[in-house]
Amino acid sequence: MDEKCICQKCGKSGAQPYPLVTIRTMTVRNTSGTQKYHAMGDELSIDLCGTCIDDWITQRSAAQPQLRRAVRLPLLLLLVSVAVHFLGLAVLIRWVLCALFSGFSIAVAVSEYQRIQKETADIAAGKGHFTRNHMIEELAASLLPDKHEDAALSYLLRSRVLDENQHPALVREYGVGRKKLASIRNYLEAESSDQTAAAQTGEVKIGPAEFAEAGIAAVVKIDRGLQRR
Ligand SMILES: [Zn+2]
Repeated sequence: MDEKCICQKCGKSGAQPYPLVTIRTMTVRNTSGTQKYHAMGDELSIDLCGTCIDDWITQRSAAQPQLRRAVRLPLLLLLVSVAVHFLGLAVLIRWVLCALFSGFSIAVAVSEYQRIQKETADIAAGKGHFTRNHMIEELAASLLPDKHEDAALSYLLRSRVLDENQHPALVREYGVGRKKLASIRNYLEAESSDQTAAAQTGEVKIGPAEFAEAGIAAVVKIDRGLQRR
């Protein structure tokens, strides 16, 4: 732990740097459906302290706030089912619509309740998608821009991308193809072993205000070639 390393969440010293690789996801909708394309984006590093990571896990493993948010849609559906009575339709149709919306409302409420219970239990236990590493990535993402131009941004720990054993989990968590992950890993390895390769691909200094706002300065390499998953 470096006492001079300042946590970018709480501003206290004693943080640890977490090198990250940005994944750019472009969603293209056309007549044949929706396609997602992934590309490696910026490389950067974020400094976080253990307390902020623990706090984030505690916050994410609390079911109550999520349940309060999740109840909004079922409540709206219940209101619609009541409103149907004032539409001036035939009694039978009114009752059918009312039953339909109420049933849908209950189904949504039950499924959201089960999802949140499972997710929060998994987070507390560090299971499934919710390992500590994944929670660090989530916390980093909460402090960094989530979009750049048309691409949605995800932030993966560089150490996870470099570890091939982590790739199946990364595929499940972020939907990035295994081939893409392997090519990013190869790129990172080549970059580490030969720093001069970076100069040939062209270094771009990140300028976007969002990065400056997050207090992050980073030298990045951008791979603009989007490949199909
Ligand atoms: Zn902190």
